[in-house]
Amino acid sequence: MLDFMRELYPVCRSITGEGVRQTLARMRAAGVPLQVHEVPTGTPVFDWTVPPEWNVRRAWLDDPSGRRIVDFSDHSLHVMSYSVPWQGELDLEELKPHLHTLPAHPDWIPYRTSYYTPKWGLCLSHRQYAALRPGKYRVCIDTDLAPGHLSYGELEIPGASTDEILVYSHVCHPSLANDNLSGLAVTLWWAKALLSQPQRRYTYRFVWGPGTIGSLTWLALNRERWPRIRHGLVAVLLGRPGAFHYKRTRSGDAEIDRVAALALREHAPDAVLRDFEPYGYDERQFGSPGIRFNVGRLTRVPNGEYPEYHSSADNLDLVTAEALTGSLEMCRTIAGVLEQNHVFHNLAPFGEPQLGKRGLYRAVGGDVPLEREYAMLWLLNQSDGEHALLDIAERSGLPFGLLASTARELVQAGLLRAGNDAKEGT
Ligand code: ZN
Repeated sequence: MLDFMRELYPVCRSITGEGVRQTLARMRAAGVPLQVHEVPTGTPVFDWTVPPEWNVRRAWLDDPSGRRIVDFSDHSLHVMSYSVPWQGELDLEELKPHLHTLPAHPDWIPYRTSYYTPKWGLCLSHRQYAALRPGKYRVCIDTDLAPGHLSYGELEIPGASTDEILVYSHVCHPSLANDNLSGLAVTLWWAKALLSQPQRRYTYRFVWGPGTIGSLTWLALNRERWPRIRHGLVAVLLGRPGAFHYKRTRSGDAEIDRVAALALREHAPDAVLRDFEPYGYDERQFGSPGIRFNVGRLTRVPNGEYPEYHSSADNLDLVTAEALTGSLEMCRTIAGVLEQNHVFHNLAPFGEPQLGKRGLYRAVGGDVPLEREYAMLWLLNQSDGEHALLDIAERSGLPFGLLASTARELVQAGLLRAGNDAKEGT
């Protein structure tokens, strides 16, 4: 995952353009057969319109002595995303409104965008800005802002059911590592792991597109798929070490919310659970009142809450292999609980079945039950066709994995039957 990020870090991505295409092509080359969709500029998507495509050839700033002091080829953050083309000479005072810095972190370059207001801008360290002397500066913003396409990647991994788990990760940020090359790496490796599994209960749909306009575009073009989306996760900002933060769906008590809470309680006790708010990433679109998908969001420390956010300090030094691997495992754990959250029926429901004669319970009594024996008692008591494994795990406090493996034992012993009733997968 780190090698993948290292390779793609210098690429200038935005909400459209060659950088996104190059990134999606590299993801395909990693062995994930995603489809690239190209949606023409001007396509209406609900209250929005797919914007012109933006590409950068060159962008630089020369000081009055002719020295090149800012150059896009050094760092993709130097040019404000969606800068309109502009070339010419400016006095320092005329130039200043176009320069963006972070005074609180004088060595960092900020990440700035102006997608929907035609402007140009250059981003540089505040230290460099503070040293600028009066005089004539030469500016070159050699960009294209022209009819083209919005590109997004999509991968369907079929499962036994046509019900889908939707995974979304934004692809629109330039040279920023945690936000969101880390999300692309983790979700790509998650897709790889799913592809290598012999079977899955759910169908998985991965969408890698730009923030906001990308999820809106996918939603607008895929209305027939809406009823199939049962659960979803926006998986982003997953490479910087720090506690997991799970943001609940708009409804707040969807199965994915309960599953994520359980998985985090069991495997990442320092995780933070947050309620939905209409600010953040693409969960806002999935949770809008006309759509109401059950899509939560998994990050480590969220957007805007770590100092390096949206600056050149969000670089490869900020992310670790351990954080990426842990994030991948957490995504797979959450999906694993969803996959195994079945309802069972007790086939000997009149009193407790005699476990000892089936070799399921220790022959010598008097001691407190082992955890596995507790799990059997809970499963037999609660498996009335009404309670799924998640309900039983929540109520008993027993580990979900133990309940799932013990349920399999009880099925083999003829004491439980997996149910296919209305409660299944709700
Ligand atoms: Zn961001």
